[in-house]
Amino acid sequence: MIGLAPALRQAAARLNAVSDTPRLDAELLMAHALGMERSAMLLRQADLVLPESFPAIIERRARHEPVAYITGRQAFWDIDLEISPDVLIPRADSETLIDSAVEAFMQVAAPSRVLDLGTGSGALLLAALSAFPGAIGVGIDASAAAVAVAAGNAERLGFSERTQWLHRSWYDGRWRDALDRFDLILCNPPYVEDDATLAPMVLAYEPHSALFAGPDGLDDYRILLPQIPALLAPQGIAIFEIGHTQAAAVSDLASHSGLSTELRHDLAGKPRALRFSLGIGLSNG
Ligand code: GLN
Repeated sequence: MIGLAPALRQAAARLNAVSDTPRLDAELLMAHALGMERSAMLLRQADLVLPESFPAIIERRARHEPVAYITGRQAFWDIDLEISPDVLIPRADSETLIDSAVEAFMQVAAPSRVLDLGTGSGALLLAALSAFPGAIGVGIDASAAAVAVAAGNAERLGFSERTQWLHRSWYDGRWRDALDRFDLILCNPPYVEDDATLAPMVLAYEPHSALFAGPDGLDDYRILLPQIPALLAPQGIAIFEIGHTQAAAVSDLASHSGLSTELRHDLAGKPRALRFSLGIGLSNG
């Protein structure tokens, strides 16, 4: 009988061509096939029997399907989310927005009302509610399926009473009805150029409505930024994720809407988020 160790080695070799992290993927998928956590699987691997489902699971990954869609789970910030192909897989890059929010509210009163625009799995809003235990929040998404995923995550994490999930699209002019103002607005909009070349793992599996935003990837910033002043409380801030080449163009759109901008970088040192507040002036951080 083949043990876990050689199966993991073979699987990692099989995934080398499709993944930057073949060994980690193999381990996560092995743990998933066994119905256990990766750490427990690694500790007990000498005693475990190779699950029959493992080869077929590895073949799915070998056809570029992302690990998070196979396991149905993704860690983000300090929470664990359930994920389906209806939502973008939360990326570690997007934790830059939460880092930036925590930093922004270090010296001033924590936010009481948080808005997440294009919430998907609920990742940004739920991480913010975890970081700011006194806050309540609203998450909006144009996809009814995404809203259901987010609401399910809120329920499992015990955040249902602090959250409201709305199925609305900012392409509909009435989307702001009855929304009021927020101390913190988070947004990871679609920002990929329509003709961009994406990895098969992204292009073939993730929802295109969460990725593509017109010829220059800026369509959603053009719609949303002029509306941010009407949604922000006087001392509030809005933090938007950007593509790493979009800082100048998006800052420009923001300044035309009377917002001042601060740039934030991700852990790889790339421009990743813009932090907006009411008022004028531009500074870089
Ligand atoms: N960062 C995503 C990517 O992998 C894009 C996410 C987005 O458009 N919001 O391409």
